[in-house]
Amino acid sequence: MTSTTFAARHIAPDISDQSHMLHTLGYGSLDEFIAAVVPDNIRRDNMALGEFTRGYSEEAAIARLREHADQNKVLKSFIGQGYYGTHTPAVILRNVLENPAWYTAYTPYQPEISQGRLEALLNYQQMIIDLTGMDIANASMLDEATAAAEAMTLALRNSKLKNDIFYVSEDIFPQTLEIIQTRAKPLGIEVRVSANLNDAITNDCFAVLVQYPAASGALNDYSELATAAHAQGKAVIACSDLLALTQLKSPGEWGADIVIGNTQRFGVPFGFGGPHAAFMATKDAFKRSMPGRLVGVSVDAQGNPALRLALQTREQHIRREKATSNICTAQALLAIMASMYAVYHGPDGLKKIGARVHRLTSSVAAALTAAHVAVVNTTWFDTLTLKVKDASALHHAAHVAGLNLRAIDAQHVGISIDETTTAADVHALLTLFDAVPVHHDADTIPAALRRESAFLTHPIFNTHHSEHAMLRYLRELSDKDLALDRTMIPLGSCTMKLNATSEMLPVTWPEFGQIHPFAPNSQTVGYRAMIQEVEAMLVAATGYAAVSLQPNAGSQGEYAGLLIIQKYHTSRGESHRNICLIPSSAHGTNPASAAMVGMSVVVVACDERGNVDVADLKAKAEQHSANLAALMITYPSTHGVFEKSITEICDTVHAHGGQVYVDGANMNAMVGLCAPGQFGGDVSHLNLHKTFAIPHGGGGPGIGPVCVAAHLEQFLPNLNAIGYQRDAHGIGAVSAAPYGSAGVLPITWMYIAMMGAAGLTEASKVAILSANYLAKCISEHFPILYTAENGLVAHECIVDVRGVKDTAGITVDDIAKRLMDFGFHAPTMSFPVAGTLMIEPTESEPLAELDRFITAFATIRAEIAQVEAGELPAEDNPLKHAPHTAAVVCANEWTHAYPREQAAYPVASLRTRKYWPPVARVDNVYGDRNLFCSCIPVSEYEA
Ligand SMILES: *Cc1c(COP(=O)(O)O)cnc(C)c1O
Repeated sequence: MTSTTFAARHIAPDISDQSHMLHTLGYGSLDEFIAAVVPDNIRRDNMALGEFTRGYSEEAAIARLREHADQNKVLKSFIGQGYYGTHTPAVILRNVLENPAWYTAYTPYQPEISQGRLEALLNYQQMIIDLTGMDIANASMLDEATAAAEAMTLALRNSKLKNDIFYVSEDIFPQTLEIIQTRAKPLGIEVRVSANLNDAITNDCFAVLVQYPAASGALNDYSELATAAHAQGKAVIACSDLLALTQLKSPGEWGADIVIGNTQRFGVPFGFGGPHAAFMATKDAFKRSMPGRLVGVSVDAQGNPALRLALQTREQHIRREKATSNICTAQALLAIMASMYAVYHGPDGLKKIGARVHRLTSSVAAALTAAHVAVVNTTWFDTLTLKVKDASALHHAAHVAGLNLRAIDAQHVGISIDETTTAADVHALLTLFDAVPVHHDADTIPAALRRESAFLTHPIFNTHHSEHAMLRYLRELSDKDLALDRTMIPLGSCTMKLNATSEMLPVTWPEFGQIHPFAPNSQTVGYRAMIQEVEAMLVAATGYAAVSLQPNAGSQGEYAGLLIIQKYHTSRGESHRNICLIPSSAHGTNPASAAMVGMSVVVVACDERGNVDVADLKAKAEQHSANLAALMITYPSTHGVFEKSITEICDTVHAHGGQVYVDGANMNAMVGLCAPGQFGGDVSHLNLHKTFAIPHGGGGPGIGPVCVAAHLEQFLPNLNAIGYQRDAHGIGAVSAAPYGSAGVLPITWMYIAMMGAAGLTEASKVAILSANYLAKCISEHFPILYTAENGLVAHECIVDVRGVKDTAGITVDDIAKRLMDFGFHAPTMSFPVAGTLMIEPTESEPLAELDRFITAFATIRAEIAQVEAGELPAEDNPLKHAPHTAAVVCANEWTHAYPREQAAYPVASLRTRKYWPPVARVDNVYGDRNLFCSCIPVSEYEA
């Protein structure tokens, strides 16, 4: 026997486990079973994965990827333009970025098992609030450029002025401008780029956006602009930089209404474009229409402070097409890293880093000026724009010297200094210009713009400055949370599968981590080779013609896909097509994305089996035939069923001139078995953070590639502003870097390269098998809401727990919280059907873990039976009081109608393996009524 294949490590149930499950379901073989689940008419041919068909061993895959990495060249970056060199403190690198306790966690929708990451994100919000001088900040945005676009639409939503005109300062990062223009167009917002911001005062507009410090490096005082704008009811948006704000008067102090930016330079590697956490902070008046997730303080059932996500009624899960944005997966892991950077350095450390960067920049400016190099900007924090005779010759010389400068135009180059810039780097830089150090004035920040106000005064930023303290703080927080390193997280639609260690290793290789997104092509040969291979792998998996990896979450893939559909219709003279059909069961991002491209959503009904109601679909397609733009459909359905009618549905939409958007979040049921590009889809997004092994990071990062059929390839996104153009017909950019969050692509590359075609196909089969095994076993306790006619489900199933509401007063919440006492993360709650639980085990859960979960359900059902039988009071039973904290169970007083032992150890196996939730049930309503979204004052704990 050779050593075990990676596929056999990834797919936990082995042959004997599989036969046990098949036997339980009454099938003789896996293939017989799969034939019963996946409709014949959509089964695919073989998946051609080229050199990856057979699947590499872990060692061979690493060696193969190493060849790509070695083709990248890491130069010293002075490019800046939103991305700066930074030292990731080793204690954060190893204990956050490389630690599965952090990176395998899910979005903190279940707050009781998420207090650690919620605290880290609350620190993040406090850090942003302090540095920007604003009232409130959210828990991360996808990137700086999309955050700027979201700020634009936020300002429009809140504006009382009757116009759609938006002014943007000319001195802004080009990628930010391009995203703003992409986003503005379908919404009918007119973007005016202006050198003279007074234009925004003398003309109509709803808001004006400035960059502070500006893209050229200049420091401008916008306080008069803000005063004049406010007098007219116009909003002022500032794109800013956190390190600069350690030295500069905060935008809040000079009057900005919304501040956005990137936190990358707080310890997060370049990664050739991402992932990094962007931020958004606003004045109080904007908080209820702010996009993205927001962590807030509430109380638990014991009256103790407890954290949870706040104001969720703004989000697309509830508000659908009226949501404040389509952002679902954001950048939690990177936000956590950035916040920990601030916790570790503290305000004084950050001030020192910022002051040093500024001092070095001033010394470079003085030396260059003395050498008769024209420095265009007269003020700066860290960036200089230089006028030169021959920029291209200079770039060439810089590359030879191992340096990258910012490319501006034939006569200008830019230089940005950062935390990693050394004296030797400055020397090399000056040598390029034949300059030598001269005496200089260290502080060139104009007096009116100097920061006088304090920041990060909360104890959390002033305590953990030794490595031991930091290490223990990180451990303390991660110990509070349930992530995949402790338990299965059976979240339907979210596909929480193994994130294998070998897949994670290359992420922190410098040849992947230390590449600036705008580095010249000659330095990124290996990156682009890997990217091409991932694109080809995904083309093979989906049956489409081409893929763009630019969107940095599924929601962004949806947005890109709909823009592509729109552009296709326009190219055929049918720009009037603006109706988007969306089944009622769709994920909230679908209608929210449709709204962002200006489409009108028409809801299609589902029938009593949970399938798309084909008659209703036909009627609506007919009714809107002339204006039908698209259908957005999830397959297999969000109800967890392979609908046989899918080909008929696609044909119907095509017959009426519409395009079919297949939401690919459920691709984990399909890889190797059927392919949306083959059964009728025109466009799909995938979630690489679901199907293709990128970890969820506690709510991001993600990658949401947009995949298209051949007739749409020409419309894939570009990033013209930095010279990335796939095709002149492409839609504008949808993310700030050409390949989005390229830094985590090695994970997907490794996953596919190691699984091979047979491994991937088997993963789909076992994912479906495990889901059906769970469905069958759980159905003895609770009904499964939807199945196909033969009683089978796809890779997930909906458990209908609504019945016990009537018989015992037990809600879906009670069951979800009680599962925590068993050490489980609850399944997806109330999506797509209110009051139910949707379970998705994935192929990488061992049979023993599935059985542990089934036992938990059986035990919970028995407890409910006790309530039904009147043996336990309706208001005093282990479900109503779940989860039980150690403090509650160990208290001297115990007044409940059930024993302590039942509270804490409902099954014997918990005696050797117990997770204690750090807080009792969190009160959501209290938190929203008493909205508080920054660090808890210490006095609160003393009280
Ligand atoms: C997860 C999911 C999305 C959104 O993807 P994000 O990466 O979170 O933006 C869209 N549709 C479905 C069905 C999903 O499960």
